[in-house]
Amino acid sequence: MEDQHQAPPLIELTGLRKSYGGQEGEPSVEILHGIDLTIRAGEFVAIVGASGSGKSTLMHILGCLDRASAGIYRFSGQDISSFAADELAWLRREAFGFVFQGYHLIRTLDASHNVQVPAVYAGTPVESRQERAQALLERLGLGERGGHRPGQLSGGQQQRVSIARALMNGGHVILADEPTGALDSQSGVEVMALLRELADAGHTIILITHDPAVAAQARRVVRISDGRIVEDRGASRPEAAAAPSLDTRHFMAHMAQGVAHGASWLADVREALGSAWKTLWVSRFRTLLTLLGIVIGVASVIVLMAVGRGASEDMLQKMAAFGNTHRMSIRPDTYGTRGLRSVLTEADVRLVREVPNVDIAMPFLTGNAMLRANATDASTALWSMGHEGARLFNWKLARGMFFSAEDEARIATVVVLGKTVSERFFAGQNPVGQYVLLNSVPFRVIGELAETGEPDGDNLVAIPFATASRRVLGTPYPGLIQVKVHDPERISQTVADLTEVLIQSHRVKDFAVANNPARAKQQNEAARQQSLLLALIAGISLVVGGIGIMNIMLMAVKERTREIGIRMATGARQRDIQRQFITEAVMVSVVGGVVGVVIGLIVGVVLIAWDVPVIFSIRAMLLAFGCAVATGLVFGFMPARQAARLDPVVALAGE
Ligand code: ADP
Ligand code: MG
Repeated sequence: MEDQHQAPPLIELTGLRKSYGGQEGEPSVEILHGIDLTIRAGEFVAIVGASGSGKSTLMHILGCLDRASAGIYRFSGQDISSFAADELAWLRREAFGFVFQGYHLIRTLDASHNVQVPAVYAGTPVESRQERAQALLERLGLGERGGHRPGQLSGGQQQRVSIARALMNGGHVILADEPTGALDSQSGVEVMALLRELADAGHTIILITHDPAVAAQARRVVRISDGRIVEDRGASRPEAAAAPSLDTRHFMAHMAQGVAHGASWLADVREALGSAWKTLWVSRFRTLLTLLGIVIGVASVIVLMAVGRGASEDMLQKMAAFGNTHRMSIRPDTYGTRGLRSVLTEADVRLVREVPNVDIAMPFLTGNAMLRANATDASTALWSMGHEGARLFNWKLARGMFFSAEDEARIATVVVLGKTVSERFFAGQNPVGQYVLLNSVPFRVIGELAETGEPDGDNLVAIPFATASRRVLGTPYPGLIQVKVHDPERISQTVADLTEVLIQSHRVKDFAVANNPARAKQQNEAARQQSLLLALIAGISLVVGGIGIMNIMLMAVKERTREIGIRMATGARQRDIQRQFITEAVMVSVVGGVVGVVIGLIVGVVLIAWDVPVIFSIRAMLLAFGCAVATGLVFGFMPARQAARLDPVVALAGE
């Protein structure tokens, strides 16, 4: 008895007032007009009054779901008016258990998981909370119903599930608002028996009812009318019951530690993932539609980038195969107002050869010649060039050799046959060492080219330019100067240099430079820009997907306001709610991202089967996937925060 005197009362209200409205010009209406009420741990109190008298309002304040407008509320001796949201959340989950008229179970969770919700927020390990939930359900006669969803249970069963939930974290103070209001009389009797039993076991029970018959079952009855206490019967009676389950001398000392320590980070995430999966699964069709935006976005980023890269790589490779990336040519051009036609000379070739970065500069002239060999005559493409021709065109020799600088110098009548020509005139026999006639001039065959991969490159004969100009084609002027550079990156500078040298020599710009590498670079650049554009389009579809996520999340917050309220009433902190909604959003985007990557890969493989050049890029995949997840995070954040900032009472009243 000594101890009892030292212990502060469990609940002590002094001059408590509550008004609604008063903002944005609304009139302020006071509902509770100065309540003074003391409740000791272990009491079984009924608060009774007509409908609209303010009972629920009072209960919300008692349960820390709402704050008073004025007056003092001490819990275990501490004024809670200065408590932060997370501290109130701790109080709700450690001290209180709520039982509502409408049960307020979470639709998407089965009975066992509903019972476990408060323990989740208290950070109880999975196994022990499952065991405890099962034990509580058994104690309330629902041992077989753990796997049933609320919709599969009767009203009385749902109410017993909600009582089990109230007891999950201890349920030291059970706040029951019209717990029998929605029940048939038999279930009502059972629920009341249960509450009496809990009172006998030391739980503090605060029962709210408009029914005097129900109230009569409590040991103390407080009557409230129009927001004022008008009667308090049995208050002074000393408690004869068992020792209260909550010790008000020490209880608040645990708070600082309790608020900081929820579940471990990993367990929290696991829990959020599990419940996110359940909710998304329940509304899976809508989730699927939202997913679609992300899937299309991610898949198209991957496919478009792969096709774009494949195309440009393909082109580069083709060009490289023919030496195009290092090659350009200079041709004579008209000049002046009368359109005079100029020529290039062998002297020009020598000038160009001296320009820095020039690897090869050689005269080049093509024409047609009558070729006669093995008693066959045919007109043939004749390419004449310097001895570096094989290297410049990337030609390989199948037999013999290409002509040398010496051959050039002595104007040798030697010829190298293209593959097609050799086959036509020699039918697979080795032509090297044989003689052929080119426009009636005898030439010795010294080599045969390997297949070049280009039809034009195979259907020709190649001879030294010096010989062609003097003996076959009859002109001293090269049609082109073919140039190969060392470094294609420096090609613009090289073009500028050789242009300057030639202008100095000719005094007019009477030539043109066909700059293959620069064109290749331009085309490559264009292809890159194209694929960037495509990626941009894909990015836009990702954003659209993100907006879809935001939409479904905002709707979820609206639809699940009640659920958020229930979670808050059972002790969820703001960050728990926020984490849950962000997890749901990120889960949608991760699933969408994974499906998108898989579909992107499948489409790519199908394209490969259709001979479309495709180069997958891990970086593009990571980028697309990362964007998708970031989209989920960014677009999920706002709805999540909106959910977390809901007021518990407002959320509970929500639909
Ligand atoms: P009881 O539970 O005793 O039936 P309530 O506490 O629910 O009564 O409500 C008491 C009064 O407060 C009622 O007149 C009701 O209209 C009013 N009230 C309750 N909640 C709000 C609110 N959020 N805004 C304005 N008035 C409210
Ligand atoms: Mg009410």
